[in-house]
Amino acid sequence: GPDYIRAIAPYQGGKPIAEVAREFGLDEAKIVKLASNENPLGMPESARKAMAGVADGGRYPDGNGFELKAALTEKYGVPAEWITLGNGSNDILELAARAFVQTGQSVVYAEYSFAVYPLATQAVGARALVVRAKDYGHDLDAMLAAIEDDTRLIFIANPNNPTGTFIPGEQVEAFLKKVPAHIVVVLDEAYTEFLSAEQQYDSIAWVAKYPNLLVSRSMSKVYGLAGLRIGYGIAQAGITDLLNRIRQPFNVNAFAQAAAIAALRDTDFVARSATLNAAGYRQFTTAFDEMGLQYVPSSGNFVLVKVGEDAGAGARVNLALLKQGIIVRPVGNYGLPQWIRISIGLEQENTLCIAALKKALV
Ligand code: PMP
Repeated sequence: GPDYIRAIAPYQGGKPIAEVAREFGLDEAKIVKLASNENPLGMPESARKAMAGVADGGRYPDGNGFELKAALTEKYGVPAEWITLGNGSNDILELAARAFVQTGQSVVYAEYSFAVYPLATQAVGARALVVRAKDYGHDLDAMLAAIEDDTRLIFIANPNNPTGTFIPGEQVEAFLKKVPAHIVVVLDEAYTEFLSAEQQYDSIAWVAKYPNLLVSRSMSKVYGLAGLRIGYGIAQAGITDLLNRIRQPFNVNAFAQAAAIAALRDTDFVARSATLNAAGYRQFTTAFDEMGLQYVPSSGNFVLVKVGEDAGAGARVNLALLKQGIIVRPVGNYGLPQWIRISIGLEQENTLCIAALKKALV
């Protein structure tokens, strides 16, 4: 195979509960997993019911997601021709790299940004132009300056993962205005539903203005459907048409489609999830302040906290937490070996995590 495939470092996900139970001799039921930015409420009941109503998993799903696209059309006021459904929003990110970047061309993204950007870039044999972070977030001026003649794609995560940083909408649009029109900008908004009312901005309205903009959204976070794998991209037909040509014909299964339609309409669940998240974030940051721990202010459903000064700190504290049945995410692979990322859970889960962290740090 190509050298650029052999050079890829595999994606490191959150450790599964069953594996941690086995490895550390713990009771699965007592393990708390705050490692993958999932919704601690799990799936909405509305989605569970909709899934149960899917008559026959023996038939292929609707490969074009007619009903789900209709629900998205209703929600966002965009034509169905502007929507691409993905097997998780990761699928959308990867499709963008495959559709717009040739081997040897370049892709711009930020240091400390989402791990799938390097993967998608390397998988097509492209060159990564990784832009130094500013205050753990995107430095948009530096990203503009990093663009080269052969740059074809830019990834921006807003809010960013794993740092939780947020770029105000005006700054994102000012950036879009300056990016040359032949470069596709993927605006990855997996966590957008967690933004406060003051932070919210209307990126979908920008799609009509910028033919090179692809907004990517996930149903894994606030909608609680991570296990079903579903996300979507919104862009003008010029982009969408290409993504749809190269995606797998049945990339989103029938259960996920049914659940997504119900979840999109379940505004109560979304509001409840966002409120719970805001309270859990306060719970964690109050504890970090008391413990004298530095953290990056987060606009997502997770928080990055510094657990030591030496390069082994993140891995060491992660292991000490695992032994206590708490799964978080070490972020050494992101170039942040002194930090861990904690997903915000239920109040009781957060309490257990904070207590375990105190023990891990003595
Ligand atoms: N983008 C960002 C910034 C993320 O953090 C994640 C989830 N880790 C994703 C995209 C992908 O999520 P999914 O494929 O589950 O939609």
